[in-house]
Amino acid sequence: MCKWNQHRIFSTFVSLRRQQIYSVRRFQTTTTLGKPISIASIQIPMDATEQSLRQSLSEKSSSVEAQGNAVRALKASRAAKPDIDAAIELLNKLKLEKSAVEKELQSTISGSGNGSLNREAFRKAVVNTLERRLFYIPSFKIYSGVAGLFDYGPPGCAIKSNVLSFWRQHFILEENMLEVDCPCVTPEVVLKASGHVDKFTDLMVKDEKTGTCYRADHLLKDYCTEKLEKDLTISADKAAELKDVLAVMEDFSPEQLGAKIKEYGITAPDTKNPLSDPYPFNLMFQTSIGPSGLIPGYMRPETAQGIFVNFKDLYYYNGRKLPFAAAQIGQAFRNEISPRQGLLRVREFTLAEIEHFVDPENKSHPKFPDVAKLEFLMFPREEQMSGQSAKKLCLGEAVATGTVNNETLGYFIGRVYLFLTRLGIDKERLRFRQHLANEMAHYAADCWDAEIESSYGWIECVGIADRSAYDLRAHSDKSGVPLVAEEKFAEPKEVEKLVITPVKKELGLAFKGNQKNVVESLEAMNEEEAMEMKATLESKGEVEFFVCTLKKNVTIKKNMVSISKEKKKEHQRVFTPSVIEPSFGIGRIIYCLYEHCFSTRPSKAGDEQLNVFRFPPLVAPIKCTVFPLVQNQQFEEAAKVISKELASVGISHKIDITGTSIGKRYARTDELGVPFAITVDSETSVTIRERDSKDQIRVSLKEAASVVSSVAEGKMTWQDVWASFPHHSSAALDE
Ligand code: AMP
Repeated sequence: MCKWNQHRIFSTFVSLRRQQIYSVRRFQTTTTLGKPISIASIQIPMDATEQSLRQSLSEKSSSVEAQGNAVRALKASRAAKPDIDAAIELLNKLKLEKSAVEKELQSTISGSGNGSLNREAFRKAVVNTLERRLFYIPSFKIYSGVAGLFDYGPPGCAIKSNVLSFWRQHFILEENMLEVDCPCVTPEVVLKASGHVDKFTDLMVKDEKTGTCYRADHLLKDYCTEKLEKDLTISADKAAELKDVLAVMEDFSPEQLGAKIKEYGITAPDTKNPLSDPYPFNLMFQTSIGPSGLIPGYMRPETAQGIFVNFKDLYYYNGRKLPFAAAQIGQAFRNEISPRQGLLRVREFTLAEIEHFVDPENKSHPKFPDVAKLEFLMFPREEQMSGQSAKKLCLGEAVATGTVNNETLGYFIGRVYLFLTRLGIDKERLRFRQHLANEMAHYAADCWDAEIESSYGWIECVGIADRSAYDLRAHSDKSGVPLVAEEKFAEPKEVEKLVITPVKKELGLAFKGNQKNVVESLEAMNEEEAMEMKATLESKGEVEFFVCTLKKNVTIKKNMVSISKEKKKEHQRVFTPSVIEPSFGIGRIIYCLYEHCFSTRPSKAGDEQLNVFRFPPLVAPIKCTVFPLVQNQQFEEAAKVISKELASVGISHKIDITGTSIGKRYARTDELGVPFAITVDSETSVTIRERDSKDQIRVSLKEAASVVSSVAEGKMTWQDVWASFPHHSSAALDE
């Protein structure tokens, strides 16, 4: 199986995760007393070996050039032949040294010397097999297709259905979640409240002559990556600059992005024409609801909003108890600007999302001990900032030391790890990467992405975020319906409450049309900010106050707001729950699974490479094939009996009664990832062959279906059945 270097530092920053510079899910929407959340400038240190190799290569190039000049000078001055020969010998030696450094640098950059070529060849082999066996089909193919839209063919549908049914089992059933199913068509007001209408955008540039659109950050990313991977002549300083650009690109304003595109001379990839300045493009598909066209709407870009707007009813359904989680599986739509990368970035895809509502003052999780001992690759913020690689951490320790913000978030990280690895994702090519401070929304407590390594690099497949109370508050504010939970006290409690009363008359006089923004900002202050303001107003009479929605400071005077703390008796605490949200891109997980399960092995004659998808039985599209060894009526009847029994125990299977050789039939099923094959070669007993080992056991005809069903459903392992029945190893069978 093809594997490549997993530890290149910058691969983190060229992964496929949405560069959400302007996306709603990380935009600052409320105000704080101080400055807006500052965007950290990240310096990504370059790998020391790479840096010294680039340095050495530039020195060797200078030496070769100097020696070349010396040879030319000697020849021009008609120097003595031995002198010229000696100079040429030295030149050749220097050239050899330069080429050795070049090779070493190339191998350091790409991991295996020709990593990107390997990756592309590997991807081509996988994609060819997937398309040929109809795992997926480009949608509307007979009309030339549409980028970013794909159909799942029969085996693809079966795999998706297996993944989703395991998702339901692993999350909804085992965690007692409340499942909902909401419409894809969503009225504008909902997505206005969530912020998508204003901010769910990517920056786009247009080919100035043809009008073809490109994602601006992708063009810059491609330029930097290609230079770093393929151009060995760039200096160590230039390489460091390009890596820096890759790391901070997410924070570029349209102007900064445009300036970099100009500075690097990036043109339209297809035509080399000049590009327009970048501008935001909203990714939602717009529509209207009803014949009048008067109700604006959108195709939902995520399923989460359907859960948030139902919070009140779900909370009552759950007996007004927290914590609880609601879940939804459904289609999401994003009008991606120029989707490439096959199934990984598409315009319509299946999302499976969980919103786990929890008391912000208690984010412990009763089942955390179940996952605390798990150890897997984690990539905390600090390691990314200091240029280290992901490392194996124990989840319990990561939570105990505060690397992961809280137990509930940690619990979901652990459950996502178990889900993905049980599906067949390779543990060594799965890591949990923490968002850098500049990637996270200011309201988010902590975010981790489950990233899976594929031939496209590290791909964000599941986002796991503690989004605090942001979403419920946004919908409460817009709809006027309080989306809150209560905690009843056994005894009434005396509490001190912060009371902020903006004096609207004074604020109106001072700020006129901006009065509402200032009032909202004042009311949104937390206790620390409010008490700091109170103290400054008392000592100085006025204070500078940053209003985020106005993006500027205003001067607040003492007569414009009253801030106090009042004692009150309370019988209950009313609060907006925090939400922890694991969000699964099902198509991305499935594509990565295809790559992780794909391998090739030589045919019996050794003249060709045969493809095998080593899917675990849990996800395999068909669990078993049934072959009569030769075409005769008795064997076909026996195969039909087995088929009926397999159907009755719910095992998906296929009968292959073609007369082709058994080897060819095995090869065909291996390519579909079928884990077991029953070959009927007598009227009383059959063989069962296991795909990966190619080993076979012999069982009676009557037992065949139940044995296959036990191993396919994980009730027995292949080793168990191997030990219990007469068997032949593949070596003995010479398959
Ligand atoms: P987001 O809301 O952007 O964090 O996306 C949630 C999940 O959806 C991601 O972790 C991806 O797995 C998946 N996803 C996002 N955009 C796309 C896309 N264009 N095509 C396929 N999957 C996507």
